[in-house]
Amino acid sequence: MRAIGETHSVAEWLGLIMEFGQVNLKCMALLDEANTSTFGHPVPTKVTMMVEKGPFIVVTGHDLLDLKHLLEQTEGKGINIYTHGEMLPAHGYPELKKYDHLKGNYGTAWQNQQKEFNELPAPILYTTNCIMPPKESYAENIFTTSVVGYPGLKHIPDKDGKKDFTPLIDKALELGGWAEDKQFTGINGGTELMTGFARNTVMGVAEKLIEAVKSGGIRHFFLVGGCDGARTGRNYYTNFVKQTPMDTVVLTLGCGKYRFNDLNIGEIGGLPRLLDIGQCNDAYSAIKVAVALAEAFKCDVNELPLTLVLSWYEQKAVCILLTLLSLGIKNIYLGPTLPAFVSPTVLNVLVEKFAIKPISTPQADMKAILG
Ligand code: SF4
Repeated sequence: MRAIGETHSVAEWLGLIMEFGQVNLKCMALLDEANTSTFGHPVPTKVTMMVEKGPFIVVTGHDLLDLKHLLEQTEGKGINIYTHGEMLPAHGYPELKKYDHLKGNYGTAWQNQQKEFNELPAPILYTTNCIMPPKESYAENIFTTSVVGYPGLKHIPDKDGKKDFTPLIDKALELGGWAEDKQFTGINGGTELMTGFARNTVMGVAEKLIEAVKSGGIRHFFLVGGCDGARTGRNYYTNFVKQTPMDTVVLTLGCGKYRFNDLNIGEIGGLPRLLDIGQCNDAYSAIKVAVALAEAFKCDVNELPLTLVLSWYEQKAVCILLTLLSLGIKNIYLGPTLPAFVSPTVLNVLVEKFAIKPISTPQADMKAILG
């Protein structure tokens, strides 16, 4: 037992945060198991950004079970459902995509919600974090559930494991949606998104990928993912993806992908070059893919032709970073700025033990990675 006031050494802190990273890995594994055993393994799915005329509901956050219950309760009622933000990967799960009224995705990442929800003729359901102070113009249309809450907003409670979404459904019918179909675009003007490239799908083509790497058809894999935010420095990630050579594959996950997920960056060996693994917690899926590839190549994950280029914003992203570090993954590029808690001592440890690199420019970093 440590006496009050006695401090930990750097080595002791390091041990504790590595343990923390491993606990987070177990949490992500449990969530992955819950999602895939309930909804099936995601399959590649094209998602439209067209919103059809008539009543609709937008669902944001991460909770697939809330989405499932909402889909059940809206079936046959003439209401369409659109995902938003981190809910986009829901389209890839067989037990969710089977609902015809799960139509597409509306909007981009969480930081644009005040603009995207302004005067939206539809209610919005928040299932997990990332709520921004709502504007008066749409506060009436917001419903929160689970751990999400905000003063003055309506909350759908959980009663004995059941949620009654009737107030949300009534609101959708009252607002009525748009009179005509509306085509929206992503940040770069694209009108369609692809998702569903989680571990099962990627490992399903593992032999093809391994052959392509061996024959030189695939030179490198990048995992470009993490959080999005309002800072202009985050354009780095769009420009980085745009600069990836045609013989490279870009894996992505989290909110940061909205910077580039509407870009068509081509195909490689019949697969899209940009593969959306899922939500930020699906970093577990990316870890499984990396470990499986390392086994196939009989090497360490750090010896794979793989570079992680991550953007961080909030605590959950830091948990995931600690998990990656606890697995011994090195040479991660991190940006757009280093987290405020990275003191000079912490930075030394991150650089010395894990060779973490703050991002610089897409050109310089690409050159350093590919030579
Ligand atoms: S942790 Fe990052 S990627 Fe995950 S929901 Fe929050 S902002 Fe998005």
